[in-house]
Amino acid sequence: MIAKSIQDMLAEKENGFLIPGDKVASVQEDNPLTHAFLLLTKVRYSKIPVLDGQSHLLGLLTIPMITNKMIELDDISQQPLQSLIVKDVMQTEFDTVKDDANMDEVLHLLVDNPFVPVVDADNVFCGILTRREMMKAFNFVAHNIENKYDVTKKASKE
Ligand code: AMP
Repeated sequence: MIAKSIQDMLAEKENGFLIPGDKVASVQEDNPLTHAFLLLTKVRYSKIPVLDGQSHLLGLLTIPMITNKMIELDDISQQPLQSLIVKDVMQTEFDTVKDDANMDEVLHLLVDNPFVPVVDADNVFCGILTRREMMKAFNFVAHNIENKYDVTKKASKE
């Protein structure tokens, strides 16, 4: 369990913690791979969410998932991209959290993932929690905890 004092201070930063869905670059499951390739190259994010027409979260997409389809025996070709769409190559197994997830769960997932998508009870995409925003919140706690709480080292038992 995270200490209550730290949890409360992180909650103060909660407003800025979630990057809302409308600020997150994403693709639709039925977008052509050529479009997704251009978008991922332009936005420069390594991994982005894949949604359906009702904003349900279906997968995640990276450039290597696309370029894998372009690699031939001793060449690369963009020809295979013409007939493929995002859902043909996207990752469908991945971690998510619900919009009411506790900080403990989020922190554990951010150890292994640079970001965690947040969904509601109907799997509608709400946004992402990133390791970067978490580090900013931790920085805030580290700098301010002694202004708000008495933090003293307990006497050692030995
Ligand atoms: P950051 O912690 O800001 O470096 O972001 C970590 C990862 O989260 C990025 O590599 C992307 O995969 C994803 N990400 C962060 N911000 C966005 C965004 N606005 N749109 C899409 N993906 C994002």
